[in-house]
Amino acid sequence: MSNPEQSRRPDGSTYGDGTRCVHAGLPEPVPGEPFLPGPVFAAPYHLDPVGGPEAAPNGYGRPDNPTRRRLEAAIGELEGGDCLAFASGQAAITAVLLSVLRPGDRVLLPTDGYFPVRGFATETLVGMGVRVDFVPTAGPYPALDGVRLVLVETPANPGLDVCDVAELAVRAHAAGALLAVDNTTATPLGQRPLDLGADLVVASGTKALTGHSDLLLGYVASRCAELLDPVRSWRTTTGSIPSAFDAWLAHRSLATLDLRLARQSANAAAVAGALRSRPEVTGVRWPGLPDDPSYPVASAQMRRVPGVVSFDLGDADRVARFLTHSRLVFAATSFGGLHTTADRRAQWGDDVSAGFVRLSCGVEDTADLLADLGAALDAAG
Ligand SMILES: *Cc1c(COP(=O)(O)O)cnc(C)c1O
Repeated sequence: MSNPEQSRRPDGSTYGDGTRCVHAGLPEPVPGEPFLPGPVFAAPYHLDPVGGPEAAPNGYGRPDNPTRRRLEAAIGELEGGDCLAFASGQAAITAVLLSVLRPGDRVLLPTDGYFPVRGFATETLVGMGVRVDFVPTAGPYPALDGVRLVLVETPANPGLDVCDVAELAVRAHAAGALLAVDNTTATPLGQRPLDLGADLVVASGTKALTGHSDLLLGYVASRCAELLDPVRSWRTTTGSIPSAFDAWLAHRSLATLDLRLARQSANAAAVAGALRSRPEVTGVRWPGLPDDPSYPVASAQMRRVPGVVSFDLGDADRVARFLTHSRLVFAATSFGGLHTTADRRAQWGDDVSAGFVRLSCGVEDTADLLADLGAALDAAG
C-alpha cells in the first residue's frame, strides 16, 4: 500500500472518496516536478555495472515499471490491499485462476457473470483437469467443502444480481476455500471486498474505474503476499502487463472517479425510475431501487450503486430503433464510461433475452438524458 499517512486527515480519520481519488498513488511533492509524473517509457534501464539489477529499482519493463507502480499504489490504496496491474480484466482474472488452481481442484464460478470467464473455464480450466461448477450470483450456494476457489461477481454483469460477500467469505474460509470477488461493476468506491473478508479482488479497469473508454486494464488486489506472489510471477512470465502509457492514463483518470460515479449513479436512479413508467419496458433492474431483488444486500454491502441499469425492450428490432433514434445513447459494449451507452447483450452471446439491454449511464446532465431516452422510446414505438 502507498503511504498510509496520505490517506488520513490530521485527526487520524480517513479522507473522503474525492480526496482519496485525487491523491491516491501520487509521489511526495518535489518542487519543479509534476503532481503525477509522466509515463516512463523504457524496456531496459541503465544497470549499475557493478551491483547489477539489485542496485536499482528498475531493470526491465516486463517485471516492473515506475508508472505502473504508482498506478498500483493508487488502486491498492482504494481497494485496501496490494495491487498488481494487468493488460486487461481478462488477463487479471485468468492469472488468478491459473495461478491458484491445479488439476483436481474444484472452482465455483457465476452462471450469470462476465461470459468470457465462463468460456475460459469450460475450455481451458476443464481441459487442465479442474472441476468447474456454476452457481447463480444470487444463490443458493452449495456446500463449499472440497472447493479450492469461489469467484463471485457482484453486482453481476449484465443481470445486476448481487451476493453477500461477508457471508460467503465466512462460508468459504470454514470450508478451506478462497474467495475472489470481481469488483469491476462496483469499483473500490462502491465496495471494498477485502474489508468484507474476500481473499482476492479481480477487476477490469477498462470500465468505470478509468471511465474514459480509451484503454484496457485489469488488476488483482489482496492483503495476502502468499496469494499475490504467484500472481506476480505469472504476470512476469506471461507478460500480461499494461503499457506505461495506459497505466498513466488510468492513474490520471482515477482522480475523477468519485465525481464520475456520483453523476452516473444519480443518472441511473433517474433513468431506472423513468424506464419503470414506460409500458413497453419490462424487467428494469437497478440495485438502488428499493424493490429491486438486489436492494437488501446491495444497500447493506455497497457504499454506492453503479450507473448500470438493465431492462428489456421485447425484441431486437425495438432495441435497434431505440438506439437509432437516441442522440445521447451510443450503441456500444463495455460500460462505466463518461458517455451513456447501451448494449443489446444477446448479440454477444450472453444468456439473456433478445430485447435485453444493458444501459450504462454516463455523466451527461440528467434532464438531457431523460428527455433523450423518452423521445427515443417514443420513436421506437
Ligand atoms: C469487462 C469485464 C471483464 C473483462 O475485462 P477486460 O478489461 O475487457 O478484459 C471482467 N469482468 C467483468 C465484470 C467485466 O465487466
